[in-house]
Amino acid sequence: MSDLLPAARMQRLGTETAFEVLARAEALAGEGRDIINLGIGQPDFRTPPHIVEAAIKALRDGHHGYTPAPGIPVLREAVSADLQARHGVSIDPSCIVVVPGGKVTMNFAIMMFGEPGVEILYPNPGFPIYESMINFSGATAVPFALLEDQGFAFDADALLARVSERTRLIILNSPANPTGGVVPKPVIDRLVEGLLQHPGVAILSDEIYSRMLFDEREHVSLLQYPEIVERVIMLDGWSKTYAMTGWRLGYAVWPTALVEHATRLAVNCHSCVNAAAQHAGVAALQGDQSAVTAMLHAFDERRAVVVEGLNAISAVRCQTPGGAFYAFPNIQQTGLSARALQQQLLERHGVATIAGTSFGAFGEGYLRLSYANSLDNIRAALQRMREAIEAL
Ligand code: PLP
Repeated sequence: MSDLLPAARMQRLGTETAFEVLARAEALAGEGRDIINLGIGQPDFRTPPHIVEAAIKALRDGHHGYTPAPGIPVLREAVSADLQARHGVSIDPSCIVVVPGGKVTMNFAIMMFGEPGVEILYPNPGFPIYESMINFSGATAVPFALLEDQGFAFDADALLARVSERTRLIILNSPANPTGGVVPKPVIDRLVEGLLQHPGVAILSDEIYSRMLFDEREHVSLLQYPEIVERVIMLDGWSKTYAMTGWRLGYAVWPTALVEHATRLAVNCHSCVNAAAQHAGVAALQGDQSAVTAMLHAFDERRAVVVEGLNAISAVRCQTPGGAFYAFPNIQQTGLSARALQQQLLERHGVATIAGTSFGAFGEGYLRLSYANSLDNIRAALQRMREAIEAL
């Protein structure tokens, strides 16, 4: 027992189970077990060499001091040009705040709006940090369901019906973790239209998978709606697109009214992102994009194998995800809870997956599989899963 007394809010802070599963999978592998990891959500590719070289060059050129808190000007300008090219929007670089990873924007936006007495709406199942941080801030976390029979999108009117006079922030994420779902444009159109009745509500749009779309889908960014753009916080970053999860580099476009708050949070939290990573970020945005295209092709091929393999298991059914690199099969017919199946698959059969409940209560009955792994490993994991589930 310790005499230390951390603040009560520490009891409300959740976690991201993916990191726990990763640690357990690595511990089992360390004991000599043959583990296939479909748990962690990070590309299994290396960062493209020209990006790595840009970081090395930056260090050699002496870029090893502090930088401006919201990011070096050349990077903020490169982000602005990228947003113009990809989404057709004109964003002033002064509204862009570069941070150490996509997650930091989430933390800032939720801490900026969350306090006791207010409500924040978030997708469930969804990225677990949303709910965790909302609870931590003292706000009330109000989930809206993502529905399997709607391709894991939501019903705009059902969501709007949950907006109250206490709602300060709505969190959206498309393409989504953990479902791979993509919210169709008509649903976003309807949501935006409905939000005109609620001018005091901000929107955090987590678009970190905006380039991970299949079947020629076009990304719809919340920045493309001028009628609400002055209350949209658009989160994106380099982690997934450029296989840069460990570099810790992300950014957000903030409404003019909030940039100063975001910059202050940055100054109070991390001062600035490390300089070499920022130079690498410029090279990523301005350099050859063929590695991004190649990764997407590889994910697309694996997606087909995963979905087909899962649907070949009698007690499992899986929708074809439209984006990201996750499959979210329905496992209700196995008769096991998501957590029990996750544990059996890892401990007895050496396949790391993540229970849908790690992404919120509405994830019961589902597993998340990340297909950021080789085709051979994916096929072997599916074979093990089939044997395991059919023997239940
Ligand atoms: N948003 C979503 C939906 C994610 O899935 C993740 C990472 O898994 C992040 C944000 C965080 O990205 P980063 O690693 O850049 O902090």
